[in-house]
Amino acid sequence: MIEIKGVHKRFGSVSVLEGIDLEVRSGEVVCLIGPSGSGKSTLLRCINGLESYEQGEILVSSQRVDRHGKGIHDIRTQVAMVFQRFNLFPHRTALENVMEGPVYVKKENPREAREHARALLEKVGLAHRMDAYPDELSGGQQQRVAIARALAMRPRAILFDEPTSALDPELVGEVLAVMRKLVDEGMTMVVVTHEMGFAREVADKVCFLYGGRILEEGASRQVLGAPREVRTQEFLRRLL
Ligand code: ATP
Ligand code: MG
Repeated sequence: MIEIKGVHKRFGSVSVLEGIDLEVRSGEVVCLIGPSGSGKSTLLRCINGLESYEQGEILVSSQRVDRHGKGIHDIRTQVAMVFQRFNLFPHRTALENVMEGPVYVKKENPREAREHARALLEKVGLAHRMDAYPDELSGGQQQRVAIARALAMRPRAILFDEPTSALDPELVGEVLAVMRKLVDEGMTMVVVTHEMGFAREVADKVCFLYGGRILEEGASRQVLGAPREVRTQEFLRRLL
């Protein structure tokens, strides 16, 4: 579903991605781990065209991701993104936040979009808070609204960038539970996370990024349980 071949990316004179190759098949869950500055967020942002790249190729459903190309809106609809900071519209209710994209971007019928939004908020356990504004919700609830909002676009894949890192520890579980539900439903996901328990449990593949490269890649059991590379070993040891 997502193919990344030899992708290089620089910010000015700084090389941030140095030849990334990665394939994400339909229904697969890939977790990206690695130290701060290793390029995890940049890679996610390249996949849905929030950043450009200079070399190589990224394909989504066989369509080339070109930030300035005319197919980019279609690609962003197919590949949704959930950020560490939830980025909800502050002056819209939970329900309105979830409806916004379908109505204004996809021109869905508002009545149908509202019904779909209600169903999605119910799915993330927020049926009772549909009319709340973001600042009336906890961080965990806001992130669940953000996930519902991503789902509202009926994406084929979702990219998560440290979705639980900004949350108080007691709120992490409720967001991971929603993500597990999506995994069970067969959603294709690329997840940057420091939640190793989650990665071990749900990832089909774990990639360890270091200095803009995938230094180690394999089944979660192997990479997290018996890493081959010294850098991976050091990184995992520091997380404990
Ligand atoms: P973290 O774990 O801290 O989120 P990361 O692995 O997501 O780190 P990136 O945010 O992808 O890392 O950043 C990779 C490198 O690119 C870093 O050196 C960062 O300073 C640099 N960088 C990221 N965004 C920009 C930008 N807009 N302009 C210049 N440099 C940038
Ligand atoms: Mg990041």
